[in-house]
Amino acid sequence: MHFNHDNRIGPELAAALVNAAEGADLEQVLRDHAIRWPELDATAARALRAWARRLRAAFTATGAEQRCSAVNELLDEAAGRIHLTTHDGLRPHLHLVSDHRDVVARVKAVTAGGLAILTAWTGGTRLGGCDRDRCERVFVDTSRGGRRRYCTARCGNADAVARHRSARRAADPAS
Ligand SMILES: [Zn+2]
Ligand SMILES: [Zn+2]
Repeated sequence: MHFNHDNRIGPELAAALVNAAEGADLEQVLRDHAIRWPELDATAARALRAWARRLRAAFTATGAEQRCSAVNELLDEAAGRIHLTTHDGLRPHLHLVSDHRDVVARVKAVTAGGLAILTAWTGGTRLGGCDRDRCERVFVDTSRGGRRRYCTARCGNADAVARHRSARRAADPAS
């Protein structure tokens, strides 16, 4: 599939929220993903943390059926209203929720809707969790081949080194 601004922002925001560390600045995460009016009070920040824990299931699901039900559960809670907009002089594009909703409702709609659209387009093969042991991060695979397995190149390299070491130990237990 061709990734552009419209179809990657929701899934990438979802991944960023899942990956946000405990003390991370969630407002900055929202700003980085073009969410307008991203101001969060303590209640909204708590609601987004809870939502992020639920988003994880869409990434770690195995198989199409499990992924569809994970995303459907998110959609159930993120009732939006699809409409066209031309705000800020942009060309007509789709919004999945009214601008008048509060920030938590808007983030829920953008992430759940974005994950649903991506899953429909790709069969869900573009969402994943890092393959490295003990790494809990998730990712959206926007690579051309769509065979990404790690959250970052750093995790991929670390895992390759670890596998190389254990293969050497297996071949030569004295080393
Ligand atoms: Zn827009
Ligand atoms: Zn990782």
